[in-house]
Amino acid sequence: MKYPKLFAPLDLGFTTIRNRSIMGSMHTGLEETENGFERMAAYFSERAAGGIGMIITGGIAPNDEGGSDGHAKLSSQAEVEQHKIVTGRVHATAPDVKICLQILHSGPLARTKNAVAPSAIKSRISKQIPNELDAQGIEKQINDHVKCAVLAQKAGYDGVEIIGSAGYLVSTFLVEKTNQRDDEYGGSYENRMRFAIEIIRRTREAVGNNFIVIFRIAAMDMLHGGMSWDEVVTLGKRIEAAGATIISTHFTWHESAVPTIATMVPRAAFTSVTGRLRKELTIPLITSNRINMPDVAEQVLTRGDADLVSMARPLLADSDFMLKARDEREDEINTCIACNQACLDHTFNGITSSCLVNPRACHETELNFLPTKNQKRIAVIGAGPAGLAYATIAAERGHRVSLFDAADEIGGQFNLAKKIPGKEEFYETLRYYGKMIEVHNVDLKLGRIVSADELGPDQFDHVVVATGIAPRKPAIDGIDHEKAVLYTDVIKGNKPVGNKVAVIGAGGIGFDVCELISHSGPSGAVDANVFAREWGIDFDNHPRGGVTGVEPVVAKSDREIWLLQRKDTPVGRGLGRTTGWTHRLALSRRGVNMLNSVEYLKIDDEGLHIQREGKTAIIPADTVIICAGQESERSLYDALKDTSTSVELIGGAFKAAELDAKAAIKQASYSAAEI
Ligand code: FAD
Ligand code: NAP
Ligand code: SF4
Repeated sequence: MKYPKLFAPLDLGFTTIRNRSIMGSMHTGLEETENGFERMAAYFSERAAGGIGMIITGGIAPNDEGGSDGHAKLSSQAEVEQHKIVTGRVHATAPDVKICLQILHSGPLARTKNAVAPSAIKSRISKQIPNELDAQGIEKQINDHVKCAVLAQKAGYDGVEIIGSAGYLVSTFLVEKTNQRDDEYGGSYENRMRFAIEIIRRTREAVGNNFIVIFRIAAMDMLHGGMSWDEVVTLGKRIEAAGATIISTHFTWHESAVPTIATMVPRAAFTSVTGRLRKELTIPLITSNRINMPDVAEQVLTRGDADLVSMARPLLADSDFMLKARDEREDEINTCIACNQACLDHTFNGITSSCLVNPRACHETELNFLPTKNQKRIAVIGAGPAGLAYATIAAERGHRVSLFDAADEIGGQFNLAKKIPGKEEFYETLRYYGKMIEVHNVDLKLGRIVSADELGPDQFDHVVVATGIAPRKPAIDGIDHEKAVLYTDVIKGNKPVGNKVAVIGAGGIGFDVCELISHSGPSGAVDANVFAREWGIDFDNHPRGGVTGVEPVVAKSDREIWLLQRKDTPVGRGLGRTTGWTHRLALSRRGVNMLNSVEYLKIDDEGLHIQREGKTAIIPADTVIICAGQESERSLYDALKDTSTSVELIGGAFKAAELDAKAAIKQASYSAAEI
């Protein structure tokens, strides 16, 4: 057994968790979708079949005021019947897997005029001032949590997780800046803890001893003026005494300015905090954040940082994560790359979640890769994300697939993406596809520029053109000047970059290029200490929130860089909803100048001539990097489309504008499921 700690059962006295892995809570939007409970039943039962030890559902509100308008809640018998669809299916699939309902009262973050909080204080990330609870209101909120737990028990859940972190209701009682009350629920820390402790105490009383009660604590809330270490430990001890079975550690409030799950966060960066708390408590502890491969989980458990490891997004990316770990098929794991593009960004944009590397996630009832009854000879041209997804899925379904690429490695633009500091996880996606090519017997032909006459109907029944994109060369006077270079040449290291650099185009690639050229220090993933220094976290001394009084130490770029766009919107506005701010902040701390409303006049020996706000100026750049989007590479398709060959276009070749890997893989997956 390669992962003995990860696969050791955990005896809770009244029940046993079959191994140390937990699928952490994620609100996916299925909770509120039509047919959502059927879809959740399929989604969770696949994860149960895939070997996970315990599942925590997405957050469900205990009452109307606990969630945004339209948010799912559990407060009535009718809702119990819906939840039974989920618990019934999960337990029928894997009787020894546990499933717990997360009770999430959003407090001041609920987008409803009925939002409540200990004090009428607006969160930095909310648009409204919540209603201050009176004594009766507090009593109601506690009782509604308890009632929700009792209903969860009736619905067949094995337990509940009560969220006491992230800036949601329970946590706002704990922190002084959000709790300005002067009654028995405010003032002293003893009083501020009362709300959390009462919920756990009364819940335990109501559900009896044989029901899992988890409390999610903000072990390091990343808030200036947040909880001190002593307060965290005291709360942990009191929650334990009040009857919790397990404490789950969380590392943020949503309003904090520290990235805690984005791809630039080193793997398992926060588990040492759980490890320190574990020494103070006797009940089991869960740790989480950026644990995305079995060896990382095993190391965390071996260090004694936690009793259980929570992986949320990695279970979206691969439902069979634990089965593959058990069978030592780790190289077949479709690894979460922590991009947030299809999961959290969707949630925050009100779209049903999925996963960039696995579009089946949360779509299990509609996207399935069933064996074909009509085997075809298929040629896929281009082994970027679109071609890789298409080829491996079509082959998995039983088609005979040949995959061609002009390059001598698979991956297309992912081979550029993986070179960007903080995007090292992209290597994992390429490792995964490389393995799938082998497992499903795709005939891979690298170093082959394929022409139309090699793709006739006598050779192939169907041709899929996934030839990607060519970088756009905008029509700017002097675009062929020697100081103007394409981003592809910069990332590949084909062209030198000077000390004064203008970057034309501030999309995802413009930002990535700035990240690359402003980065100092060795390349490759940074460790937790470097990350902590750059984001102003003190893991060793744990000041309030882990961050109070700690200044980020960021090396200014040796280069002078200007990142430019024509639009008048703030630079970086179009980046991912949940990760864009981290990129903007990181670059501005390194001293990158960001300018919008720029008109490009010409490039010459003096640099880049621009016009902005009615004035002309010269950016004295010795290199001008062009990141001005892309155009589809369709010459092969054009040569085939009027022939007798059956041909389709996917990925960047199909549509370059607004294309990203999420769209490329999704389109390819749906198409390959149907051929
Ligand atoms: P490509 O990746 O362009 O692949 C096309 C392939 O076709 C290439 O390998 C090429 O060699 C091959 N080819 C072309 N013509 C022929 C021919 N005639 N014969 C044989 N082979 C041929 N997207 C995200 O979603 N998130 C990100 O964080 C992200 N970061 C990025 C960072 C960088 C630096 C870059 C450059 C891109 C990033 N992207 C990101 C974009 C993403 O990589 C692309 O959207 C995606 O690669 C498009 O996939 P594709 O398969 O359509 O095309
Ligand atoms: P993009 O996001 O479309 O950005 C292109 C940039 O070029 C824009 O800033 C645009 O801004 C500018 N531009 C467009 N046409 C121009 C012209 N003719 N002259 C001058 N400037 C022009 O594309 P991208 O940055 O190339 O990224 C490609 C895809 O990869 C995108 O879909 C992106 O989402 C994805 N990606 C994602 C990430 C991520 O972290 N999620 C990272 C990298 C890439 P103006 O028009 O305002 O000048
Ligand atoms: Fe992970 Fe990205 Fe998939 Fe979310 S979308 S689960 S972050 S790979």
